[in-house]
Amino acid sequence: MADFDPRDTNVDKDKDLDGIIRPQGLEDFTGQKEIVSNLNIYIKAAKMRGDALDHVLFHGPPGLGKTTLAHIIANEMGVNMKVTSGPVLDKPGDLAGLLTSLETGDVLFVDEIHRLSPEVEEYLYSAMEDYVIDIMIDKGPGARSVRLSLNPFTLVGATTRSGLLTAPLRERFGINCALEYYDTAELIRIVKRSCRILGVAIDEEASLEIALRSRGTPRIANALLRRVRDFAQVIGDGHIDIEIARYALDKLKIDKRGLDSIDNKILKTIISTFKGGPVGANTIATSISEDQGTYEEVYEPFLIKEGFILRTQRGRVATELAYKHLGLEDELLKRKIDEGSLF
Ligand code: ADP
Repeated sequence: MADFDPRDTNVDKDKDLDGIIRPQGLEDFTGQKEIVSNLNIYIKAAKMRGDALDHVLFHGPPGLGKTTLAHIIANEMGVNMKVTSGPVLDKPGDLAGLLTSLETGDVLFVDEIHRLSPEVEEYLYSAMEDYVIDIMIDKGPGARSVRLSLNPFTLVGATTRSGLLTAPLRERFGINCALEYYDTAELIRIVKRSCRILGVAIDEEASLEIALRSRGTPRIANALLRRVRDFAQVIGDGHIDIEIARYALDKLKIDKRGLDSIDNKILKTIISTFKGGPVGANTIATSISEDQGTYEEVYEPFLIKEGFILRTQRGRVATELAYKHLGLEDELLKRKIDEGSLF
């Protein structure tokens, strides 16, 4: 079986199913309590005033619900949403077409907004600030620019790499939300909710097992659930119990703490190649063929949150938990003896 890659954003490519499972309103949305309660207020206030909601920026690792929240904003505001992404918007003309098609209050969702070209980004500034854009008409000597008014709209931007956003763009978002990883109880709720919608019976223990291996991420929880459901259907009677869940998750090579092969490679690099650290983020990033920013914003936060890596001033250090997780207790002991920290 091919390795299950939870970082692949296509893990939920079963789009029909995804559309059914995706929460539609703030009430359905589990977790991110503060963000949800603030959005609730902002949306209510904007509706009372009859204004478009202020521009919203969502940032955080993949699969935590940025796109889902954008859809929810449009639903709750009772407006339409147009979807695009940074790399797709090649030139200002592409953006102008989209902006002029928005009706009052509509949402324009720009995924991967850190990947907008500087030219397109600059074009967005006046649209966001004053709801106007300048478009060029005619070419050559007769070319002139005409100012066009837009309907008030809400730009919802999503990014996994907030560090790459320029200050002028970031400052133009009135609402700025950092999504956090979900805790186990929230993931259990998400798994159970998906099971209810899919009409699948699941035991308490099995939903806990899936939650624990989901890397704090709803997208992964739902993707694992779908695969476990397949195993339950084919080798069981469709009911997901703990045995089926463990069997399927082991087959998918997701370890007991939800770490995948890249996470484990990061820990192994720090411990075996760099004697447990401290080692620079840049060096670790190179070992997994990523740039430092992606390592720091996409890969590392979960490992830090779960206590596998410590971020110190001199670099990253593997914790005791990381040694134990990889079964390298002997190495930990040796290191402690070398450091003289054992006695
Ligand atoms: P992102 O845009 O941050 O990468 P998405 O919004 O596409 O993430 O969410 C990924 C998947 O996880 C979606 O299928 C969605 O249904 C599910 N999901 C995300 N957040 C939640 C949540 N809070 N409750 C239930 N399901 C969620």
